[in-house]
Amino acid sequence: MKLKDRTALVTGASRGIGRAIALALAEEGADVAVNYVSSEAAAKDVVEQIQKVGRKAILARADVSDYPDTFRMAQETLKEFGHLDILVNNAGISSDKTFVKMDHASWRRVLAINLDGVFNCTKVFIDQMIKRSFGRVVNITSIIGQIGNFGQANYAASKAGVMAFTKSLAKELAGKGITVNAVAPGFIETEMVEAIPEKVRHRLLEQIPLKRFGRAEEVARAVVYLVSSDGGYITGAELSMNGGLLM
Ligand code: NAP
Repeated sequence: MKLKDRTALVTGASRGIGRAIALALAEEGADVAVNYVSSEAAAKDVVEQIQKVGRKAILARADVSDYPDTFRMAQETLKEFGHLDILVNNAGISSDKTFVKMDHASWRRVLAINLDGVFNCTKVFIDQMIKRSFGRVVNITSIIGQIGNFGQANYAASKAGVMAFTKSLAKELAGKGITVNAVAPGFIETEMVEAIPEKVRHRLLEQIPLKRFGRAEEVARAVVYLVSSDGGYITGAELSMNGGLLM
């Protein structure tokens, strides 16, 4: 087991990629706090799955865009686990519209969850990582942050912002035993991609050299790599996983 006795919190772990990451970390021996905002039953299921593999798991409800709520979650998590070694900032949403039709509320909402959320969650855990001279932070960005996309100015800006944040933090914390990295998935089979109209999905598949969408479990294995000793020499990196769509 690569993560024996480590403690982790995964934001947005009730569904999709976050769920797969939480389960993969637990399978490698970590205790995991499962963050979610509204899908309580789904989050409870993830907690139960983790407990089945013999690891500790707790529900960690908080809206990552809300700093006081995130602070409360961190206090509760630290009370349960004692400390936190691994933070995976995965929670994210999209709200697509061409820029002309995009209103300010949609811009703010996506930035508040996808970008402010990463600031909030990192802020509330980083001091105790610095104190212990150990920490692993992984942020889930996106190919859209790397290349932009029609109808996704808000989402693309949020993800590019997270990548710039990742590199800055990696530089600030490298001397303190903390690595900060990002994983940038392409199109992964989750509810987010299932919501894409069939015609657009078909067109996308034609453009992906590997001719399939990615799996949440594949993203999860990349996160395990980055937070285990295997990835100990990597910081400030953005690992692209997109079936060859961007090369
Ligand atoms: P998803 O299936 O829609 O799941 C989103 C998760 O985020 C859920 O657990 C949700 O919790 C949580 N969440 C949403 N708003 C939140 C908030 N304010 N506070 C706390 N948690 C919140 O998404 P996904 O496809 O797995 O995507 C996960 C991450 O990967 C996102 O950052 C996304 O941008 C990124 N990504 C996805 C793809 C893809 O193809 N799927 C590609 C590139 C990047 P509830 O269930 O409680 O609502």
